[in-house]
Amino acid sequence: MPRPIQATIHLDALRHNLQRCRAAAGDARVWAVVKANAYGHGIERAYPALRGADGFALLDLAEAERLRALGWRGPILLLEGCFEPRDLEVCSRLNLWHVVHCDEQIDWLSQHKTHQPHRVFLKMNSGMNRLGFGPAAFRAAWTRLQALPQVAEVSLMTHFSDADGLRRGREGVLHQVEAFVAATADLPGERSLCNSAATLRHALALRLGSGSAQALAADWVRAGIALYGSAPDHPNHDAAHWDLQPTMTLASRLIAIQHVPAGETVGYGSTYTAARDMRIGIVACGYADGYPRHASLGQDHGAPVLVRGVRTRLVGRVSMDMLAVDLTPVEAHGGPCNLGDEVVLWGRSAHGPSLPVDEVAAAADTIAYELLCALAPRVPVAVE
Ligand code: PLP
Repeated sequence: MPRPIQATIHLDALRHNLQRCRAAAGDARVWAVVKANAYGHGIERAYPALRGADGFALLDLAEAERLRALGWRGPILLLEGCFEPRDLEVCSRLNLWHVVHCDEQIDWLSQHKTHQPHRVFLKMNSGMNRLGFGPAAFRAAWTRLQALPQVAEVSLMTHFSDADGLRRGREGVLHQVEAFVAATADLPGERSLCNSAATLRHALALRLGSGSAQALAADWVRAGIALYGSAPDHPNHDAAHWDLQPTMTLASRLIAIQHVPAGETVGYGSTYTAARDMRIGIVACGYADGYPRHASLGQDHGAPVLVRGVRTRLVGRVSMDMLAVDLTPVEAHGGPCNLGDEVVLWGRSAHGPSLPVDEVAAAADTIAYELLCALAPRVPVAVE
């Protein structure tokens, strides 16, 4: 018997979430962001559902190669552009669009011998202070690029630091939108501003400049986490609020059941003490599977989990290969648990209910992005 842990990728949910992003983006085209191996889902696994996107955005030339090998002939955008001059040859060979965010990348392009002129997205740093030219330097960069024979088309982009609105509400994007519009209003070229949070919250409601009829969605949105069923502004909203469906289930089974007398502790560090006689389920899933160790931090801080579709929570520390759950609510609902009973760490239960990955991430003081990307290679993955 293989160890009973399994991840499942739900193609119907990926398709549904892509449609949700499309609807939120209006007329704009959708880049499906598939960096980090499609946020842990696997590019090859997610591709049959996501090939309905208008293009794919990613980081890595190797990931771009994989998409081309799958037969994708449409646009692919390298979100950080080239890391060294010779990447430009691969961009030409694979017909990639690439971001240009610094002078060195323009230098490389100007020295590149190419048969096929490049399509680039010039990136503005409008307040994130990560990649891109500041508003004052943007025009000079655009003028330089535009003059290069190696460049066929210059599009314009920026990236929001606070589109989730958790810290600064709508103000979180407005100052960046204003900086972008002020520096680009008279420049030609397609535009891309919105990530998932901005797409769902603002894409059609906010406009690019008061005199412009163009929605914030602009020509392209870049949707990542929403495709993968997580609410980008959790905990302000949950996935159900945005009508997003879980795309990954991480499930396992009970491999042992312990009777723990009142006063005894559970697991390493004895962080959890049974207040009464309890039945504890031991589950074949640990941090070496990608489950966050911080999902259970003490007596009253265990992440939610579904056992036979009934919600309960972790008790004691997560260990490398196992974790422990309180069986009390499960047995109160449906009678004694048995070895082999289904445990859902996040995603869909065969018994009906779902457990949003956002809730598990919140319990571990992190975000769903991290949990999905961290799924360990040792976990077998099915596609349905
Ligand atoms: N655009 C850029 C430049 C990004 O770096 C990312 C991801 O971090 C995205 C879009 C997608 O973001 P999200 O997953 O929040 O939709």
